[in-house]
Amino acid sequence: MRQSTYLAPTLRDVPNDADVVSHQLMLRAGLIRQSTSGVYSFLPLGMKVLKKVEEIIREEMNNAGGQEMLMPSIQPAELWQESGRWDDYGPELMRVKDRHEREFALGPTHEEVITSIVKDAVNSYKRLPMNLYQIQTKFRDERRPRFGVLRGREFLMKDAYSFDTDFAGLDESYQTMYDAYTRIFTRCGLDFRAVVADSGAMGGKDTHEFMVLTSVGEDTIAYSDSSEYAANIEIAEVNKVYPACEEAPKELTKAATPGQKTIEEVAAYLNTAAEKCLKTILTTVDEKPVLILVRGDHEINDVKIKHHLDARSVEFATETETKSWLRAEPGYLGPVDVPKDIPVIADHAVKSLVNAVCGANETDVHFVNVNPSRDFRVDEYADVRMIQEGDPSPDGQGTIRFKEGIEVGHVFKLGTKYSEALGATYLNDQGKSQPIVMGSYGIGVSRTVAAIIEQHHDEDGIIWPSSVAPFDIHVIPVNTKQEEQKHLAEELYSELNRSGWDVLLDDRQERPGVKFKDADLFGMPLRITVGKRAAEGYVEVKVRRTGEVIELHRDELTQLKQ
Ligand code: ATP
Ligand code: MG
Ligand code: MG
Ligand code: MG
Repeated sequence: MRQSTYLAPTLRDVPNDADVVSHQLMLRAGLIRQSTSGVYSFLPLGMKVLKKVEEIIREEMNNAGGQEMLMPSIQPAELWQESGRWDDYGPELMRVKDRHEREFALGPTHEEVITSIVKDAVNSYKRLPMNLYQIQTKFRDERRPRFGVLRGREFLMKDAYSFDTDFAGLDESYQTMYDAYTRIFTRCGLDFRAVVADSGAMGGKDTHEFMVLTSVGEDTIAYSDSSEYAANIEIAEVNKVYPACEEAPKELTKAATPGQKTIEEVAAYLNTAAEKCLKTILTTVDEKPVLILVRGDHEINDVKIKHHLDARSVEFATETETKSWLRAEPGYLGPVDVPKDIPVIADHAVKSLVNAVCGANETDVHFVNVNPSRDFRVDEYADVRMIQEGDPSPDGQGTIRFKEGIEVGHVFKLGTKYSEALGATYLNDQGKSQPIVMGSYGIGVSRTVAAIIEQHHDEDGIIWPSSVAPFDIHVIPVNTKQEEQKHLAEELYSELNRSGWDVLLDDRQERPGVKFKDADLFGMPLRITVGKRAAEGYVEVKVRRTGEVIELHRDELTQLKQ
């Protein structure tokens, strides 16, 4: 590629609206340009990196048995209503209407679409397991788009979905994806860690996030200094609260055998269970979802219930609007007075705890006449405390430390949530209809590009790992007016290209200082400078990462093998 006509507009100064290094360097090196908040164009250089990352993902997904396909961004509201997420997903879901006033979502993820396809196409256990994936633009109306492509409103994602006959199969599919992700991020040159995560709006069970360790991450990882324990801080809180509540589910089984319960029995149960679970914990990470368990004295049908536990899953829509339901747990929505100074409440893991306490949503364990949304009111908060560095690790081994991380990938065991909601069943070998067991697996492709830069740069610019570098070699004739230099640079350019290298030739008539500065900013692994000794056939080869420089004869260069 000839640089003189290549669209790679570099900037000398750090753009003042860019707070993190990757965003600054992506703008300065001409990889991206902003269109509007959280929406970016990838210019040719950025596109090349995006494609390299995509290709690594594609290879590993194909090796892991994935089948690539492409689903639409425009998804009918009806599908989302069927799964319940039209309401649950909240304002992050971009909604549009067509000319007939029909409603659609711009896909933030594709569980609904893929499930509806598989529902129609797969009917027998003989067709399973199956793994389907796509690499496609996603839309999320993020509350705070920021850090360039790290948190965009339109971004590129690889999303994969596994379909199995049973949970043992899902365990295998999940492990296969987990291993593929490990290979993908290793090949991208990333220092990462897989951590236990919160299943969030996906409604799954087992789930891991792949976190790139940096100093700018929006997530905090709580990990043990002496065991394998590593979790997103949100879930670390839950791990922490669980031991205190272990007895609740057992008691529940006793108190709530199938059938009807009187309100007095409920009260008696709640009173004892609540005493045991009285541990209120709140995570207050700046504007991030936090978990909150609250207590209060309440009356249900004139029966006093002391210290009942409750939990809510909400998120504030804007900084000024202090109360707004984003994600509702069926059966748990209701009036809640949330004090202004408590930022956000959310954690789906709490749901199971609350279920354990009041018995809702459990098969055969449902108290009659207790409707949390009607009867429960939260008006008191107590014992607020968050997990901290230096706390004992929830697994009992060692001490908790914190690290910042960028979530580049996420693997979920969905189970049958979507297959049941949308009726995706198969016939087993006995001819019996069963729901398909699903997993879902995402990678932020554009976010990964930025994460790579966060970990690979110096004060002069980007230092691409060779696996994702836009070009392998940057050839720079120091002075293009010098015929020998120009000639040799042109020859090397075509010879190296012919032997399989991807080469960028700086054929611009610029001062050497400008060319070298741009070359450092772009960060190709090797730079070949064609200068004074061009007439003798000698050039200078510089390794971007180490700064090491060697002088080589052109014949030695063209013998370089890929
Ligand atoms: P986050 O916690 O950062 O908001 P998420 O948990 O909402 O991400 P997932 O639903 O797990 O995201 O989506 C799969 C992957 O897509 C994420 O692991 C991340 O790499 C990427 N991703 C999610 N949101 C964005 C975004 N706004 N911009 C760029 N990449 C994103
Ligand atoms: Mg998100
Ligand atoms: Mg997340
Ligand atoms: Mg996630």
